[in-house]
Amino acid sequence: MVFVTSTWTEPSPTATALLLLGHGSDPASERGVDCPGDLPAPSDPGLVARAEAAKAALGDRVFVLGHHYQRDEVIRFADVTGDSFKLAREAAARPDAEFIVFCGVHFMAESADILTGDHQRVVLPDLAAGCSMADMAVLGQVETAWDLFTDLGIADSVVPVTYMNSSADIKGFVGRNSGVVCTSSNAKRALTWAFERGEKVFFLPDQHLGRNTAVLEMGFDLDDCVLYDPHKPHGGLTPEQLRDAKMILWRGHCSVHGRFTLDSVREVRERVPGVNVLVHPECRHDVVRAADQVGSTEYIIKALEAAPAGSAWAVGTELNLVRRLALAHPDKQIMFLDRTVCYCSTMNRIDLPHLVWALEELVAGRVPNQITVDPDTAHHARAALDQMLALP
Ligand code: SF4
Repeated sequence: MVFVTSTWTEPSPTATALLLLGHGSDPASERGVDCPGDLPAPSDPGLVARAEAAKAALGDRVFVLGHHYQRDEVIRFADVTGDSFKLAREAAARPDAEFIVFCGVHFMAESADILTGDHQRVVLPDLAAGCSMADMAVLGQVETAWDLFTDLGIADSVVPVTYMNSSADIKGFVGRNSGVVCTSSNAKRALTWAFERGEKVFFLPDQHLGRNTAVLEMGFDLDDCVLYDPHKPHGGLTPEQLRDAKMILWRGHCSVHGRFTLDSVREVRERVPGVNVLVHPECRHDVVRAADQVGSTEYIIKALEAAPAGSAWAVGTELNLVRRLALAHPDKQIMFLDRTVCYCSTMNRIDLPHLVWALEELVAGRVPNQITVDPDTAHHARAALDQMLALP
């Protein structure tokens, strides 16, 4: 555990781009859109039985994926649970399933569509389940940045790397420019691969994962990283800063993990002596430095499984998962790192009424909320995803 004492200061958060949930419509982006469904009432006492009956009627024709951050009422119907990467692989491994019902967010369903066959349909039970981080990098903005790198004569030395949590458009851009997708589990391997091919990395869209991996796992200095702000001319950077940088970080963040602060860590250490602080690498750099352990969602699950009985853990990730882990390990003291509630509001859009509606529509022969990626984008995004799967 290290509390950061240098003169470096954590950048102020990027404004969240989501529409007010359930209001307005912007189907071309991750932003919230209206759900077109005639949804059952949340108070319907028969919802569980209806979901069971619809799933049974569909049988092997449907495969339900559940992200770790989903609600309990939804996760109980998942055929498999996991993080975004594991779920994409699970979808790809089910060529016989006609329908993939993705209980997660929009970019995950896009990745599933890219990785599954043309005969398969990917369904997102609520189109308002987007991701504010993915929405912070829009293709036009990223192309503007790349044009700037080209004008400065540095584009040939830059390798783009995008986090899985990005739109298919961004993955397509990265694939078109010989880059790679990464996850929070393999970010170091992806950066190592990228630095073997170029002098700089352009990291999208999560500044925190990029900075934490470069500095804490790859040995770079904070001064080697610059922050490209798409809302400022030239990203708010001088040509010299861009030429000197090793890591050009996109100014994006997760609105859930970005909420944890150094004060959260200090407060829990005072309140619970001996507590282990375990956080996700999407957290701010000062929080990750002050933690005892950092790792992906799958890492967090395994670390808590392996922890000795009686140990205390303050976990900095999404609340649905932390709650489930606390219930699964009653012999350990597992708590949320912050005192305030911190669900992923867009993940929570997928609730039991939306799942019931989606499954019953499929039973009736209609495909609701199908997520499709256009063939050209899918082709290039697939190249960046395949490159990730081939990482040494
Ligand atoms: S937890 Fe963060 S990165 Fe994940 S879907 Fe929610 S906003 Fe996006």
